[in-house]
Amino acid sequence: MPHADNSAATLFIDGEWRTAAGGHTREIRCPADGTLVATVAEASRTDAEQAVAAARRAFDDGAWPSSSAWDRGDLLLRVADILARDKAEFARAESLDTGKRLVESEFDMDDIAACFRYFGKLAGTDSGRVVDTGTPDAISRVQYEPVGVCGMITPWNFPLLQVAWKVAPAIAAGDTFVLKPSELTPSTAILLMQALTEAGLPAGVGNLVLGAGAEVGSVLAEHPDVDLVSFTGGLHTGRTISALAAPTVKKVALELGGKNPNVVFADADFDTAVDFALTAIFLHSGQVCSAGARLIVQDELHDQLVDEIVRRAERIRIGGPFDDDAETGPLISEGHLRKIEDYVAKSVTEGAVLRTGGGRPEGERYVDGHFYLPTVLDEVQQGSYAVTEESFGPVLTVERFTDEDDAVRIANDTHYGLAGAVFTGDPAKAQRVANRLRHGTVWINDFHPYLPQAEWGGFKQSGIGRELGRGGLGEYQEAKHVYQNLRPGPQHWFSGE
Ligand code: NAD
Repeated sequence: MPHADNSAATLFIDGEWRTAAGGHTREIRCPADGTLVATVAEASRTDAEQAVAAARRAFDDGAWPSSSAWDRGDLLLRVADILARDKAEFARAESLDTGKRLVESEFDMDDIAACFRYFGKLAGTDSGRVVDTGTPDAISRVQYEPVGVCGMITPWNFPLLQVAWKVAPAIAAGDTFVLKPSELTPSTAILLMQALTEAGLPAGVGNLVLGAGAEVGSVLAEHPDVDLVSFTGGLHTGRTISALAAPTVKKVALELGGKNPNVVFADADFDTAVDFALTAIFLHSGQVCSAGARLIVQDELHDQLVDEIVRRAERIRIGGPFDDDAETGPLISEGHLRKIEDYVAKSVTEGAVLRTGGGRPEGERYVDGHFYLPTVLDEVQQGSYAVTEESFGPVLTVERFTDEDDAVRIANDTHYGLAGAVFTGDPAKAQRVANRLRHGTVWINDFHPYLPQAEWGGFKQSGIGRELGRGGLGEYQEAKHVYQNLRPGPQHWFSGE
């Protein structure tokens, strides 16, 4: 809980590190063992409003939005270099906040640097286009301009990656921003603001506020001086943010949750399908928006595949971020762990068959952390709570299908539409199924790869808009049409008589 203290100057507003106006701080503790990682400022509405004002001034002053896109691209490339140089420090901070294995954080830092590099190279390559007017006496163009002040609200599961997907295109576009990372995992956002300053970001362009969503994040959603709110997080919070943003009709970008199908046909390579099914759901203990939480398996393969997944799941080694032998880590908080316990209990009550897991691991090393066993719920019924709800934990649900049409129907039977995968030895079938899945990303014989040059986002209630790729830059731009009459003269539409 926040408490009063004036020592933590971790808000970055108008180019200065500040303590919270109310003097409050928050303790950040490692989810693996409860050790104190940091004490950071806990902002209030006042701090958030000051940050919005700073971003507004920096935008309206005009120098930054009209700066050279090539120069902004160079700045992003310098940030990528700093991230590569300081990778060990960033990765350690990320692992301490989240409890995730150090090697996973190191992979994340490489992806984050790649994201900055991608937008660094994209900046300035496409400023608009000439439009055919149908006459030599007029010229017309569409030009891309920054959208303005952006409010950014991000979650705790991939703390810096989710931040990078917003900050890098915003800088490329010439926007100013106020970032509010998850209150649980602020450390790498603080390090990033230091890196942006070192790379030459002008004062006021990038601002950081830390604190609770309802208090601080809501300001970014509802403030009339914010032009775009870009949010990554849960569906229910996304709905709240949409509602808060509606009165000011600002642009809203939402990257929400998923209940992602992993479709395995009987003709798939067995070892590959088993291996990816495990990674799909148990990586980062299932706290991945695109986790393959729904295994949808062809009837004749069901028993063999599920038996092997259960066998392998029981051998997954759980531990803290710096345990050499650990293969996955803890959940983010005690509250989240309880939510998953409730989810499993409710699923079993409604008929799911608990094949393995379903509880906390035993042993001295787990007592101070939020650990939960890899869990498999078999024979789950379509439309049931277990299939409809995102657990956001290490819980795999299993459904059966008969043929290709059945597989597509079941995989699309969800209000989410973030990502999905199909495993099969038949390339044409793989393409047919990929074309019919109503999900923003489809992997074939793979799970989890993300490319900064490919758009990421959800169909249906998994979100609005796209991050990454050319579309991810477009979220941070406005298109303006400029038309010029080259032979001006009266039109005589109205006679004047
Ligand atoms: P969350 O919705 O609880 O919180 C996300 C952020 O929103 C946090 O910074 C939080 O402080 C803030 N927030 C909470 N209430 C708010 C309010 N009333 N107004 C403004 N801001 C508010 O989500 P979480 O638990 O941090 O993250 C898990 C969720 O994020 C999962 O549902 C997951 O699927 C989703 N997610 C989606 C993607 C994607 O790319 N689609 C990526 C990562 C996570």
